[in-house]
Amino acid sequence: MDLDFKSEERDLFRLVTYFKKRAEILIIENRLGDEYKQLLDACDTLSTQLQSHMQQRIQVHAEHQQLLEMVNDNAKCPKCQRLDLIKKIGVDTSPQGWKSNRYKCRRCNITFAWSAPNNPWDMIPYVEQFVEQMEEKSSGLVSAEEQSAHQQALDNMRDNLAKLRPVISASDLKMKELAVRELQMAELVHKFKKQLMIEKIRLED
Ligand SMILES: [Zn+2]
Repeated sequence: MDLDFKSEERDLFRLVTYFKKRAEILIIENRLGDEYKQLLDACDTLSTQLQSHMQQRIQVHAEHQQLLEMVNDNAKCPKCQRLDLIKKIGVDTSPQGWKSNRYKCRRCNITFAWSAPNNPWDMIPYVEQFVEQMEEKSSGLVSAEEQSAHQQALDNMRDNLAKLRPVISASDLKMKELAVRELQMAELVHKFKKQLMIEKIRLED
């Protein structure tokens, strides 16, 4: 994803530079009118807005990317059980719609899709399903030791889910808000660029 300025944003900055350079000459010639000053103010305001929008864009995407990369699936070859000889070769989608990594084992020369998802979004329903299955198994455990270990594992998973859920929803919300701001900013940039272009033509006539 291109996190740099978009082409219309760049066009706008070029126009702003044009008007600023022209203003320098007008100042020297003592011909800078109020209308032009207002135009320069509007240029400054929108440039500042765009800069800060751009910083937000980078930050929100970086946080999102960090989340995407946080899951270590601990995959190992189902045949030789080695984890050091496998190489990620792609991404699979499970019947449930979860994305998981596909690997190739260089030793066994087989490819396989790992069952656990490769991202925290899909990890939530995956662990939820796992917890459900473990809860069903609980009744079959006889010894107190088994029960205690089982309970501990369940508690850990529930804890992890409780920690992960708010992080994911916060990131989703930020991405949603950013998408709304992107639209607003694009509209603003488009309108102002048009205005500046008309002004430029008027000045050069
Ligand atoms: Zn293997």
